[in-house]
Amino acid sequence: MGVVVQNDKKSAYRKSGVRAALAVLAGLAVAALASGCSQPERRTDAPAPPAQGQQRLQAPPARALDSYATRLRASAEARAAAARRWGLEQVPLTPPAPPAVKPRITARAGFEVNHQEDWNLPPVFTTVPTDDKVVFLTIDDGADKDPAFLRMMSELKIPYTAFLSNYLIKDDYGYFRKMQANGVTLNNHTLHHPYLPGLSYDEQRREICGMQDIMRKQFGKRPTVMRFPYGNYNQDSLVAAKSCGIKYAPIWNEEVFVDHWEFREDDKRMRRGDIVLTHFRGRDEWNGTMVDDMRRFLNYVTAKGFAVARLEDYL
Ligand SMILES: [Zn+2]
Repeated sequence: MGVVVQNDKKSAYRKSGVRAALAVLAGLAVAALASGCSQPERRTDAPAPPAQGQQRLQAPPARALDSYATRLRASAEARAAAARRWGLEQVPLTPPAPPAVKPRITARAGFEVNHQEDWNLPPVFTTVPTDDKVVFLTIDDGADKDPAFLRMMSELKIPYTAFLSNYLIKDDYGYFRKMQANGVTLNNHTLHHPYLPGLSYDEQRREICGMQDIMRKQFGKRPTVMRFPYGNYNQDSLVAAKSCGIKYAPIWNEEVFVDHWEFREDDKRMRRGDIVLTHFRGRDEWNGTMVDDMRRFLNYVTAKGFAVARLEDYL
């Protein structure tokens, strides 16, 4: 009798146990469904351990996070490997996201011309006003066309802006199309690289607008940014540039060569938002290659704690 009662009790216990387990499973399934893509709230009163169903429902977002982390890690590792491959002392820093609100850029004091503001002429500037610890790399002319340089910059994901002069690039527009395909903006540096203040207004306009036409034909768009050869200009240059569709005329605050740096400022210090100039030059003109030049540039910039950002993202 006792055994029977005990059996009955056991049986009753088992039945209620199954019901309780089913209720728990149902509750967990609802909780898991309700959580959807967001993290479920941690319920301290929830029974543990989690049911099988909950684990399966949580798995997709967990896997997505994991693959995002994997991708990030893979891209950081690829950058580190590229830095080693190109002989850099450190991995270049990653720039912040482009500013949502662009800085207001005006002519640098002492670099404006008569009627700069009231004629709304393109500003000539050497530094972009920003609190981001970034500098901007600009590369001029286009004489040297080193395929290794394209590979290096693309593998390291370093943004830069090219200012091109037609007489130096016309033998190989394809080289600069590859550059453009890597996300580089190609800008105007005149047809023949003249000393603009020595030319009449009409001659200046032919040099600037003529290059706009070449850029349109060869690269698909007319730039809104140009650099005056040697950084020299007068009021005619700015009026002509504006009439050709130019909005900005950046020059530079520092210039890097394969074997030395030149600073515009007396304190020889790199500043946030500085525009850095270098040239497409190889062993023909320099005691080193473009890759050597970029190695010097990146080692210095990274050692000073700066990232390289894209100039056009701030304009
Ligand atoms: Zn130049």
